[in-house]
Amino acid sequence: MSGNVTSGSAVERLVECPSSASLPQARTTTPEALGGRSNHDRVESAIRAGTGPMPGVVRGVLDGAEVLGIEESYVLDVESRTARRLGEGLQRGYGKLSAWEIPMTLDLRTRKGGTQRVHDWKSRMRVSPAADNWQLRVLSLAVRLAHGLDRLTIGLGYLDDSELDEAEDDGSRDEQTWYLLRRAIQSAIDGDVSSQHEGPWCAYCPAISACPAKNRMVRMFAGELSQTDWERAAMELPLERAGDIYDRLESFEKLLSRAKEALKARAAWEPLPVDGGRKRLTVVQVTQNRFDSAKAKELLAEHNIEAPTKATTFTQAKKVKA
Ligand code: SF4
Repeated sequence: MSGNVTSGSAVERLVECPSSASLPQARTTTPEALGGRSNHDRVESAIRAGTGPMPGVVRGVLDGAEVLGIEESYVLDVESRTARRLGEGLQRGYGKLSAWEIPMTLDLRTRKGGTQRVHDWKSRMRVSPAADNWQLRVLSLAVRLAHGLDRLTIGLGYLDDSELDEAEDDGSRDEQTWYLLRRAIQSAIDGDVSSQHEGPWCAYCPAISACPAKNRMVRMFAGELSQTDWERAAMELPLERAGDIYDRLESFEKLLSRAKEALKARAAWEPLPVDGGRKRLTVVQVTQNRFDSAKAKELLAEHNIEAPTKATTFTQAKKVKA
């Protein structure tokens, strides 16, 4: 294997499902990822300029703090248990890395009250809490090693509603972190695809189309779906079985949407014959002017104004704690 196996933002997937690094990969850039990048760029420019509107959560983190680094990149070497700081504003240009090296970029490093802190901005999608978040876990390890720190405050700042989720890392999990990283990278180097572990980390997995677990599920489930009288089955199935099918349907939906996006990407290169050849699926430019409520909410938050809301009551199926 040449080059690095994973990056800081994808390390959870590697640890939970090492096969994901060895199965054939198909990378796609989602509109959410592009939106996230532009939000990060806006925040970075505002911090560097030191003026202008910025999300409340960023203002809060900066309040009374000394800025030590913005968009700083690090590399964690799992083989030698070392870390090095590469520089600032590298735009993910990490250079040539070995399989054992994990590159990563933090959004902001500050010092407040004698404690160093690292924060990562998230646009709107919620991720694992700061205390359990693998991206922050490896960032913390790299920053503490590179700067000789015993402890670090790690945090996630959500730009949509200024939620701040912080945790303290005193290094007590480091041995476990090294062990799990080493095991996952070794598995990827060996090209082991013997088992897969499904979970939330599948959402952006570049190997999802080649994943045996997902494909097995599609094959089994596609037959089941087409042969069942669902209105009747939904009422007659044992409760646990009905819940299990609901879970599998959610995975199925994600997989279908990934497959559709991949085919649309192909259609951007060459039109696909569809509807029995009567039509062609191609990609055309469409301009729509719609009210961007999420952006409006972010702008209001930048000016400390709470977004006005209107209560509407309706019913929806929702997963709640058992
Ligand atoms: S989609 Fe498959 S290979 Fe990818 S993380 Fe999920 S289980 Fe692993």
